[in-house]
This record gives sequence, structure tokens and C-alpha cells, in this order.
Amino acid sequence: MKTPPTSSPADPMDSTATHGVVVVGGGVAGLSAALTLVRAGVSVRVLERTDYSAWRPGETLSPVAWAELRQLLAPEPLEPEGFLESHGLEATWGSERPHHHSFLANPYGSGWHVERRHLDALLARHAQSLQVPLWRDTCVTHLEREGHGWRVRVRTPRGPAELRCEALVDATGRSAQVARRQGVRRRDWDALCSVSGVIDRPPGFPEQHLVVEATPRGWWYAAPLPGGHLILTLLSDVDVLQRHDALRPAGWSALFSSTRHLRERVGGLEAVTRLHVRRCETSRLEHAAGEGWVAVGDAAAMWDPLSSSGILKALRTGRAAARALCAALGGHSGALEEYARQQAEEFSRYLSARQAHYSLEQRWAGEDFWRRRLDARAASHPRADDTGAVRVSTLPISGGTG
Ligand SMILES: Cc1cc2nc3c(=O)[nH]c(=O)nc-3n(C[C@H](O)[C@H](O)[C@H](O)COP(=O)(O)OP(=O)(O)OC[C@H]3O[C@@H](n4cnc5c(N)ncnc54)[C@H](O)[C@@H]3O)c2cc1C
Repeated sequence: MKTPPTSSPADPMDSTATHGVVVVGGGVAGLSAALTLVRAGVSVRVLERTDYSAWRPGETLSPVAWAELRQLLAPEPLEPEGFLESHGLEATWGSERPHHHSFLANPYGSGWHVERRHLDALLARHAQSLQVPLWRDTCVTHLEREGHGWRVRVRTPRGPAELRCEALVDATGRSAQVARRQGVRRRDWDALCSVSGVIDRPPGFPEQHLVVEATPRGWWYAAPLPGGHLILTLLSDVDVLQRHDALRPAGWSALFSSTRHLRERVGGLEAVTRLHVRRCETSRLEHAAGEGWVAVGDAAAMWDPLSSSGILKALRTGRAAARALCAALGGHSGALEEYARQQAEEFSRYLSARQAHYSLEQRWAGEDFWRRRLDARAASHPRADDTGAVRVSTLPISGGTG
């Protein structure tokens, strides 16, 4: 790769401009990469498919994720407006007795709960204030190698446009659209899927705690949200959810009724008519980088939401990939490969941690959801394509049901 164009306050809708890097996907990972690149003097453009108004999953920031976020925005302060302080979590996992984990002694301070689209939109505004051109409601329609760089065709609200760049960042979340267009395969370790409903927070629910509960069919979490709301999410394998009709409000509410601690805290669920369904298989790309491109955040690898670390990983991989790109653009030919190798190693470490955590829950070892995770061999190998599990492609990719 040759030296990239440096950053300049270009016309935000100039579609002929050549950039050092085009970031596809303006979520946390893409914006972390874009902010790191622009600070290093690289010219960047971010392409985001949405206008940030729709619901997004991921509401809890651990204390260390909050610290990383502050560092990313510095010297601008991170105002807690729109965030709800979190003092820790209460988990019923492995026995009927709830365990408490407090953030109060954490050297990084409290955790935080947030409406996720608020966080992503905040980062997008920050990037724009640093003159990073960000096109919303914009989709990539065609990608092509051109010399050592790329020609990128996009569809914007103002019509089609074409861009040229030296390198691409794939920050498109689990769909990993840039990598997949290069023929890179994604391997799945499970068929995890989340089903979430948002309700008014009942008066008895702890205002500053995440509550987690394991059940025979999977596990639930409840997180308080700013504005007096509460999000309730069930995580299980797609076939288990389908068997219990839990992708629809009636079946989902019926499974909720069989929780113990959460039901005591929350009460009945008559009001839930709309659910948000997300596929979130533990998965990774076979290669997190290639000639002139690099994948970040969920595009590179998805961790089980049990880890509560997806946002932290998105922030960190965005930064690490940006540094690798700067090195590659400066002539260090092995930088992207080294980044990809580190991602693969980190994923292996994460798989061990995931297995250790699931093996703490042995009460329903015969149930499909738990049996798959307690089998050490199955848990450490990618799923074969023909496991007989219900095809996840039959699910709505995002958005609501009911
Ligand atoms: C139910 C659930 C709960 C979770 N809870 C937590 C939690 O409490 N804490 C935590 O840290 N993590 C949590 N996670 C994980 C966390 O949400 C993800 O790890 C994180 O969102 C990854 O960020 P990302 O930027 O890589 O991807 P995403 O957040 O998926 O962002 C991808 C972006 O790319 C855009 N995009 C996609 N395709 C295109 C395209 N073709 N062109 C342009 N733009 C495109 C999307 O619109 C989006 O803005 C949870 C996940 C789930 C499913």
C-alpha cells in the first residue's frame, strides 16, 4: 500500500474524493477505527446503512468499556446524560441462590446502561465534529479492486456515488459484508439468537443492576434503561426458540413466566406486543484481514452476549485495526496479517472462558441448550454445516416480530 491521502475537511457529499480508508459500518467498531485513523492524519469516510433511529442491542457498558469510551472521545468529556449508572449485576447461575457482583470496588468505577442507538449516534456526532465525513442511509452496492486500492460504489439518499480508497474497514457487524465479498468464510460455534422486549421498569426492579437468570431453555437478562424502561432478553439456540414459539410474544412471555427471580421482580408481561430478534452466533471470520481490508468488532468475531464485552471488543479492535492500517499504509507489509493472527488467538482464549462460564451451570445438562455448551469437544469446535439445526436464515435478520 502506498502513502494515503491525509485528512482534509472535504465536502461531506463530494462523491469523487479519494480517501485513505473507507469504513463500511458506523457502529462502535467502525467509529472507533475512524476516530483513531483521523487522529493519525489519515483521510477517512464512514458509510452507515441506517440513520441510527432504529433499536440496537447491547445496553451495558462495563467499567473498563466506559474508560475506553472516554479515552476515545478525549479531550472531549463524556457526559453521563443519556446513560444510567450501573452498580453491578445479580446472577442466578449454577444454583437457585443469586450471586452479586458489585462494580463499587472496581478501579475503573461504575458501569453504565444506555439505549444503544444513543451511544452509536453520540459517537457518530463526535466523528463528524472532527470532520470525518459520515454518510448515513448509505449502502455499498459494488466493491472492486483497482490497482492497490478500491473502487466503491454506493447508494445514498441523494443517488448513486463512487469512491476510491487505499483500504477498507469492514465494520458491518455479524454480516461482515466486505469480507464475505472477498470470499472469506465465517465459522459458527453455536446457533445463538436473542429475543428482546422493552417494558416500563416496574417499581420493585433494582434501578442500577443488571439481572441475569439461567433457565432450562437458555438464559435471560434484564437491564434498566434510561427513561424508566427495562429491556428483557432471552438467549437460546434458534431451534429451541422455534420449538417453544419464543420468537412470538405469546411463547416468549410463556417462557418468561417460568423464570423465578426475574418474574418475582418484574411481574406479568401483558404489555409486550413487539419483540426484537437478533442472530448472535458465537462466530468468527476465518481471516480478519486480507489484501487492503481489515474486519473489526462483530464483523471479525462475535462473542456470546454473556461476556458483556462486545462493545469493549468493538472499541479495541477498531483501534487496533486502525493502527495496523496506518502501519500497512506506511509500508509495513505484515501489519494486517499480524492483526488477523492476534484476533484468531483472542477468539481461542475467549472460547475457553465461555466454556468455563457455561460449565458453572449443570442443573439442566440434559437440555439441548446446555448439553451443547457443556460438551467440551462440541463447544471448542465450529459447527459443521449439516448439524441438522434449524436454518437460521429463516429468521428475521433484525427488527421486530409480533
Ligand atoms: C442481545 C444482545 C445483547 C448484547 N448486550 C451487550 C452488552 O450489554 N454489552 C456489550 O458490551 N455488548 C453487548 N452485545 C454485543 C454488542 O452489541 C456487539 O458486540 C457490538 O454491537 C458490536 O459492535 P459493531 O460496531 O462491531 O457492530 P454493530 O453494532 O452491529 O454495528 C454495525 C454497523 O454497521 C452498519 N452496517 C451494516 N451493514 C452495512 C452496510 N452494508 N453498509 C453500511 N453500514 C452497514 C449497521 O447499521 C451498524 O451501524 C450484545 C449483543 C446482543 C445480540
